[in-house]
Amino acid sequence: MPKMFITGGSRGIGAELVFAAARRGWDVAFTYRSQESAAKSVEECARELHPEGTFVSFALDVRDAAAIDGVADQVLERLDGVDAVICNAGITTNEMAYAMTDASWSDVIDTNLGGSFRVSRAFLPELVAQRRGSIIMMSSVVSDGASGQAAYAASKAGLHGLAKSLAKEYGPKGVRTNILVPGYFETDMTRDQMTSQLREFATAYCPQRRMGALEELSAAALFLASEDSAFVNGATLRVTGGLDWAP
Ligand code: NDP
Repeated sequence: MPKMFITGGSRGIGAELVFAAARRGWDVAFTYRSQESAAKSVEECARELHPEGTFVSFALDVRDAAAIDGVADQVLERLDGVDAVICNAGITTNEMAYAMTDASWSDVIDTNLGGSFRVSRAFLPELVAQRRGSIIMMSSVVSDGASGQAAYAASKAGLHGLAKSLAKEYGPKGVRTNILVPGYFETDMTRDQMTSQLREFATAYCPQRRMGALEELSAAALFLASEDSAFVNGATLRVTGGLDWAP
């Protein structure tokens, strides 16, 4: 059975990634920051989808390097290795740059960019040792910049540099790193942070005239995670319905 590790699997996109992996016969370890009961429900649903599979969740704050290393060790033990690592956990705030505090800036950068770096670093020794594996960074259509999203956009743009560097450093050792760029999807993040104007933009300016369905994103993630994409490395896969920018 192939094995996957996902950060932020308790809700939204991460939870759908767990389900999609379960439907395709993967074993999955995933994390949550604080919502333990949501994570346990995701585990149960995944078990219903794939009763023979292993599904296990861990509490983890991706801002905590020592905790990441500890969880990585436990994941490798529980799953007996790992084939794909998806750096999905992320946060955003809606703040104009002139009013953004250092704390707010650091929190977003440290979670989205720092967390993805630390998680990749923790699993790279295992992936390199087995000379096989896939790392996926969860970027955003906002990575090219958006009003009120300076920290979030900077964190997501940083992921592109990180992913392409890992692709070059570890491609020769059989480890692929790719970037997924979601457009707009219905989750707690978009429910909490999208204004009605942005919601209108996300459908009116999207060539497909709608927001995405979570299954459409997880299908792309599973492609990058699996050997179906064995010669795809350092690539950016946009799942945006053709929407190229954010206002
Ligand atoms: P949600 O807010 O619905 O879920 C966020 C997840 O990340 C939760 O599982 C949460 O855990 C976890 N998390 C948050 N902070 C931390 C932390 N410090 N350490 C560990 N885990 C943490 O977000 P989405 O599902 O919408 O987004 C998932 C990813 O996709 C993010 O990286 C986001 O930027 C990206 N994305 C989303 C888009 C969308 O339209 N929804 C568009 C483009 C990109 P807990 O449940 O315990 O709080």
